[in-house]
Amino acid sequence: MSAAARTQVAIVGAGPAGLLLAHVLHLAGIESTVLESRSRAYVEGRVRAGVLEYQTAELLDETGVGARMRREGLVHTGFELRFDGRSRRIDFEELTDGKFVTVYGQQEVVRDLIAARLAANLEIGFETEVLAIDADAGEVATLRYRDPAGNERTIEADFIAGCDGFHGPCRAAIPDDVLRVYDHVFPFAWLGILAETPPPSEELIYANHDDGFALVSMRSKTVSRLYLQCRNDEDLRRWPDERIWAELRTRLDSEGTGLDVVEGRVLQKGITPMRSFVCEPMRYGRLFLAGDSAHIVPPTGAKGMNLAIADVRVLARALTAYLRAARRSRSTRTPRRACGAFGRRSDSRRI
Ligand SMILES: Cc1cc2nc3c(=O)[nH]c(=O)nc-3n(C[C@H](O)[C@H](O)[C@H](O)COP(=O)(O)OP(=O)(O)OC[C@H]3O[C@@H](n4cnc5c(N)ncnc54)[C@H](O)[C@@H]3O)c2cc1C
Repeated sequence: MSAAARTQVAIVGAGPAGLLLAHVLHLAGIESTVLESRSRAYVEGRVRAGVLEYQTAELLDETGVGARMRREGLVHTGFELRFDGRSRRIDFEELTDGKFVTVYGQQEVVRDLIAARLAANLEIGFETEVLAIDADAGEVATLRYRDPAGNERTIEADFIAGCDGFHGPCRAAIPDDVLRVYDHVFPFAWLGILAETPPPSEELIYANHDDGFALVSMRSKTVSRLYLQCRNDEDLRRWPDERIWAELRTRLDSEGTGLDVVEGRVLQKGITPMRSFVCEPMRYGRLFLAGDSAHIVPPTGAKGMNLAIADVRVLARALTAYLRAARRSRSTRTPRRACGAFGRRSDSRRI
């Protein structure tokens, strides 16, 4: 094992939280190292959330990564609640003094953030799996990882940011007698499809029906995200595409209402369990959790990515203030750059 590299903030995970944190810290002159277990292609292709709240879009703009979102994102100023085949529109622009949401896929946000980091000549360690974290031992935190060539290495950091999602190792580094967890699994799930078809409506529709809830959402003008409430133990094999389309029409009660559910190629199909989870504390020693590593919510409110980004806004401000003050008082060690620690794989590159 080579000598430990050194950075100011070691960030575990290149999802929206980790990438945005690295970006905001870079703008503030704070050095960070990003380690991500998956490949660049995988994280850039991972379709998940797609609704950016006003403040999220604003932060992307403020930090210079919002141009494509503003060009390609779909602005929504309201949504529909549907009961008995009749819709009631909730105008949140009117209710919130002019605020709106922007439909822009999480994978697009991730692509924009990766492009910004690489354009700044900074590294992202893809295919680099974090194995262990030690954040409670005094002046420095350490993190052990496996690089793309299979070598185990260590990084030392002033702080570790656990942006590693729900299943990552960071939350598990907080001792059991310190960590408090609040968890609720709902007694139903959502069967979701991503389909190559124009959304049946320009805005989101939340539909109530005796057969269960249905949601019309979208990722672009040509790609729809459609959900049906189902049982927790639902077997996906019982849901061929034809059954899904028929059930969507029934639950949206679309007949004769001008709501056009046009069948298209199903690109993705899956069951999403409905779960609310939050843990405390979000800080343990020199480790901070942000995003899904600390809390998850069901996709009903399109909150997950927005909460992750809200965490980053607060965490980046705090880390910047602390590390700048520490630099002024010369109480931190001079960081030795961790760049080049990830081997020479093509997508772990500096450009
Ligand atoms: C399957 C799924 C579907 C979803 N669908 C929706 C939706 O339709 N609408 C909605 O609003 N929200 C949805 N969400 C929620 C939303 O996508 C998340 O809230 C958001 O991704 C949180 O961002 P994050 O950066 O905190 O975590 P993540 O995006 O999960 O990023 C964490 C990163 O850490 C990496 N990582 C994990 N372990 C390690 C390790 N040991 N070493 C290095 N890297 C590691 C992971 O590979 C990942 O890239 C969905 C979430 C999931 C999981």
